[in-house]
Amino acid sequence: MGYFDSLQGRAIIKDHKALSFNYVPKELPHREPQMRRLFTMFRSVAEEGVPQNALLRGRVGTGKTALAKRFCLEFKEWAGKQHAAIEFEVVNCRRRASNASVLLALVTHFDANFPDRGFSNPEILDSIRKTLVKDRIHYIVVLDEVDVLLRKAGTDLIYQLTRFEEESLKGQGSISLILVSQENVLDLMDEASRSTFKPTSKVVLDRYTREELRDIVAQRVGLAFAPDTVDDDVIAQVAGIAAETGDARRAIDLLEKSGMLAEEDGAGAVAAEHVRKANALAYSQLDSGRLDDLDRQKLLALLGVARALKRKSSTTTGEATGHYELACEEFGDKPRGTTQFWKYIKDLSDRGIIETERTRSGTEGLTTLITLTEASAAELEEELVRRLGDGK
Ligand code: ADP
Ligand code: MG
Repeated sequence: MGYFDSLQGRAIIKDHKALSFNYVPKELPHREPQMRRLFTMFRSVAEEGVPQNALLRGRVGTGKTALAKRFCLEFKEWAGKQHAAIEFEVVNCRRRASNASVLLALVTHFDANFPDRGFSNPEILDSIRKTLVKDRIHYIVVLDEVDVLLRKAGTDLIYQLTRFEEESLKGQGSISLILVSQENVLDLMDEASRSTFKPTSKVVLDRYTREELRDIVAQRVGLAFAPDTVDDDVIAQVAGIAAETGDARRAIDLLEKSGMLAEEDGAGAVAAEHVRKANALAYSQLDSGRLDDLDRQKLLALLGVARALKRKSSTTTGEATGHYELACEEFGDKPRGTTQFWKYIKDLSDRGIIETERTRSGTEGLTTLITLTEASAAELEEELVRRLGDGK
């Protein structure tokens, strides 16, 4: 009998995609009021060609990104029936934290071959303008995690995008903005940009309650799990744990990990113990927010460390450098020299993401040993590759 035969046919999770971070379910339980609010604001875009600007605000895991995406998808479909052409693009400003990079994302929506250098920002804006006017397109631009862009690049771009209408022909093409952030981004804007956001343009997403999370978890169970593998008590347990932070992402992560542990156990269903174990494991896992402040080179350096650590508990700077250089090659970045790499390592250590220890090894003399503080190397690698791959 084969090694895995006893596990065969016991898949509890039938669709991992429906649990992944970028999957947006058709219905978003408990975000109906926000959805309706956005629709009320934006219908004039389709009906009269009058652009709108909205602000979405809420803590992590309150469904901001999911809401923005689902709204745009539904709105585009609805507007199509009114014979209004809506296009939209969701830009993550943490990964595209410069005006040029955001503009490039906005223009390549219409022209995938638009060259990524050689054009100034005004030229790119002009190219977008021409396309919108020519095809009478109303473009909804979602700037997700926009606080990062505002801090790094100021308000210029937002100002230009909100004033776009004045320069184009009335009703023939327009740009609307949806700015998404955890904080009040109006504080980060100058008066001129701020004035284009009416008080009514704010849409707030509160943390989810236990009951709300229960509905969200139940929905995912239905989408992703085999029938009768997760009962109501388990759903309530997962929701109860995630209610500590009111974060739907945590609820869905915990649900997935519990399902995987149950599969590993060869169990027929998820039990309370699997949830407890998954939750205990989660504490030792990656807090991906800690990666948010790292620039590209530091992400690459950390990726080098993570890969060097995939099959062992500690590595040396030498080994990590090798993996770092390969990673640079893989992502088309120029590797920095040894001195700079050491600085990255020192910085990652100061941030508590890795630990370093100087030791004397028999063959190499004094070396620096590197370990990871909390995340598993595989999980960290996955997250880093995702960030590096998405970025520009
Ligand atoms: P935020 O952008 O506010 O940090 P996300 O939109 O990324 O949060 O949501 C986190 C996770 O929770 C995503 O997987 C998302 O699909 C899911 N989610 C959030 N709100 C809901 C909801 N109301 N119904 C179903 N899934 C939700
Ligand atoms: Mg988000």
